[in-house]
Amino acid sequence: MEVVKITPRGYCYGVVDAMTMAKQVAKDPNVPRPIFVLGQIVHNRHAVEDLEHLDIRTLDGGRRVELLEQVPDGATVIFTAHGVSPEVKARARARGLNAFDATCPDVTKTHSLIEEKVAHGYSIIYIGTKGHPEPEGAMGEAPVGRVELVTTADDVASLTFGPDTPLAIVTQTTLSQWDTEDVIRAVQSRYPQAEVHNEICLATQLRQEAAVQAARDVDMVVVVGDRRSNNSNRLVEVVEKVAGKPAVRVEQVEDLESAWFANVEKVAVTAGSSTPSQVTRAVIHWLEALKA
Ligand code: SF4
Repeated sequence: MEVVKITPRGYCYGVVDAMTMAKQVAKDPNVPRPIFVLGQIVHNRHAVEDLEHLDIRTLDGGRRVELLEQVPDGATVIFTAHGVSPEVKARARARGLNAFDATCPDVTKTHSLIEEKVAHGYSIIYIGTKGHPEPEGAMGEAPVGRVELVTTADDVASLTFGPDTPLAIVTQTTLSQWDTEDVIRAVQSRYPQAEVHNEICLATQLRQEAAVQAARDVDMVVVVGDRRSNNSNRLVEVVEKVAGKPAVRVEQVEDLESAWFANVEKVAVTAGSSTPSQVTRAVIHWLEALKA
């Protein structure tokens, strides 16, 4: 079995910067302890465990604004690459917490866009994944009643904006480019006046395009990524829907089963932008050993 290593794959610059910031904070003896991350620094269990070894604790399982209340007074808190709402930042300031912001610059750009559009009288239709921290943070830039979330084209029917409302469509950074086009078309057919701001980041686009291109020339694609990683799940989706090839997502080498590859002559491997390279390397080595 031939193993094709798709590039680019794995950590993007936003994730590298967030991990670097967290590690620098952990090394600094002047930073007040304990140190918490508000949510998973990136959606990958291995990355979270790396930080635990540096005595950085991850608060998880709720909205950022709720998790913040678990941070004790005088402690340090790190905001993740997904960004947080202005409400969370203001609350951290008001409580006198020592805050570090690891928000990816591409997410910050989306926050600024929403803030600017709202200031100019627009309401926002945000295309994103329900329950994901990035929409929670970005949508927090708009007042209640001026922003609504849609995930699929079917959700467009439930939007409550009037027909003449000035609207801006803004997307999450890690969506599937192809699915997002469908949702944008559905929104525009209901609200032709809506301006489109496709904010899918370059790292996501390049990983998806490379995966689709490679998938066309192989029998199957393995995506290495956490179940909670939006961009890893989207990689599986674009391989299946756009390239028409089977794809599986695994979190680590232990998840692989040799039976999956019984009739596979050529397999391609990619990884979500939150997957550490050593986890992907182990998967590639396992697949290469299988061909022997
Ligand atoms: S996937 Fe894109 S938006 Fe998210 S951290 Fe990476 S570069 Fe930033």
